[in-house]
Amino acid sequence: MNVYDSARMADVLAPLGFLPIDDAEGADMVILNTCHIREKAAEKVYSELGRLRSLQQEKARGGGRMILAVAGCVAQAEGEEIMRRAPYVDMVFGPQSYQNLPEMVARVARAGRVLDIDFPAEPKFDRLPEVAGGTADTGPWSTFLAIQEGCDKFCTFCVVPYTRGAEYSRPAADILKEARRLVEAGAREIMLLGQNVNCYHGEAPIDGEWGLGRLVRELADVSGLERIRYTTSYPADMDDDLITAHAEVPTLMPFLHLPVQSGSDRILNAMNRRHSAEDYRTLVGRLREARPDLALSSDFIVGFPGETDADFQETLDLIDAIGFVQAYSFKYSARPGTPAVDMPDQVPENLKNGRLAELQNLLNAQQIAFNKDCKDRILPVLFDRPGRREGQLVGRSPYMQPVHATAPASLLGTIQDVYIEAGHPNSLAGVLPLSCRRPSDKRACA
Ligand code: SAH
Repeated sequence: MNVYDSARMADVLAPLGFLPIDDAEGADMVILNTCHIREKAAEKVYSELGRLRSLQQEKARGGGRMILAVAGCVAQAEGEEIMRRAPYVDMVFGPQSYQNLPEMVARVARAGRVLDIDFPAEPKFDRLPEVAGGTADTGPWSTFLAIQEGCDKFCTFCVVPYTRGAEYSRPAADILKEARRLVEAGAREIMLLGQNVNCYHGEAPIDGEWGLGRLVRELADVSGLERIRYTTSYPADMDDDLITAHAEVPTLMPFLHLPVQSGSDRILNAMNRRHSAEDYRTLVGRLREARPDLALSSDFIVGFPGETDADFQETLDLIDAIGFVQAYSFKYSARPGTPAVDMPDQVPENLKNGRLAELQNLLNAQQIAFNKDCKDRILPVLFDRPGRREGQLVGRSPYMQPVHATAPASLLGTIQDVYIEAGHPNSLAGVLPLSCRRPSDKRACA
C-alpha cells in the first residue's frame, strides 16, 4: 500500500513540476513514506532523517533548498514528536492527507512548516488526480490498485485502525475506471489492495453495494486485463461469492495471502482475531475445493503475550496441516496504544527468537518443496522486470514465484509459457521455447 501511496503522491505533485527521481542527493523534495506496523520499521525513520538532514544542508550550502517530508503511518502516529525532534523537517502528513500536498507545499514555500494528520471527512480518493500510469516498482505491466483502506477489526497487537483510520471502500465505478486507465497504460496484471481487501463493500455503479467477488467478476471483463490478484485478506471476511469467484474466474490467480497469525485458539482469542484455527482449516478446504491448485501464503506472529510452548506447537501443527508456499513471520512487537502492550506474560526476547527460527525453518522447507515440485512444469509467466544478468528477464508465475529466464527485452510485459528447469528456495529458473528466444520472434510468442 505504501508503494501505491508513493506513486499517487507523485501523481499529485506532477502538476507542480515535481518528477520522481532515484536518488535523494540534490533533490528539491524528499518524502519518507513510513510504516509503523512494527517497532523496527518505525525506528528507521529517525536514522534515515539524520542522513537526509546532511543532504539538505549540503543543498543549502550550494544555495538550493530541499523540502523534507515524513509521510505514512509513523507520521500519523508520531507526527507531533517528529515536528519537535526534527525541526528541519518541513512537512509531516498521514496516509489520508497526501491529497493536500499542493496546499502543504505552498505553505512551506511561504516559510512555514506543516503537520497534517487529521482524518479528512471527505475520502482522499475523491480529490486525487486520475492515475498517471503504473503504481508498482516493476513498471506498468503488473501494478497496484487500492480499493479499500483502513480497518475496524482492532486486533489487539495492531496499530492499523489508529494509523490508517476507519474502514473505507471506494465506489466500484471509480475502481473500474482506474483499472481501465492502468490497462491502457500497459497493465496486464492488477493487484487489488486493501488492509482488509476482502471486506470490500463499495457503492455499486447503479444500486446497492458490491463485495469483492462481484468486483473481481466485473474486472475480469476489462479487456486486456489478464491477471487479477488481491491482498491482504482477513480470514473471517472470505464470503461464499469470493470463494466461488476462485472457481469461476480464470483470470483470478491461484495464489492467496491469508494471514492466520497463530494456530492456537487461546492466542487467536487474545488477539481478537474472530476466527479459530479450525475455522481457518475449514476455509482453506473450501477454497481448495473451488480452486484445487490454490497456493497459500500467510502471516504469523510468534511470542504474542501469554504464548506458551503448547500454543506455539499448535501453530506448527497448523502449518503442517495446511502447507504454505510462502509466508511472512514476525516476532510480536509491542506497539504503543494497542491493548496487547499491557497484557501480562510478555514473552522474553530469547524465547521469541527461538520460536521464530523454528517456525521459519518449517515454512522455508514448505516453500522449497513447492518450488522444487514446479520443476518440469510449464508455467505462464508475466515478464515484468529485466533480470540481474544481461539477456535475462524476470516475471511471476501464477503462484507468485519469481521466474528467471533468458529472454529478449521485447517480451517485457507479455505472458509466456515457460518450461521450469529448476526450483530454487526463492525463485524458479526456466527456459522459453526456442522460437521465443530471438528478439524478432515476439509476435509468434506474445
Ligand atoms: N488485515 C489483515 C492483514 C494484516 S497485514 C489481517 O489482519 O489478517 C499486517 C501484518 O503485520 C499482520 O498480518 C501481522 O502478522 C503483522 N503485524 C501487525 N502488527 C504486528 C505486531 N504488533 N507485531 C508483529 N507483527 C505484526
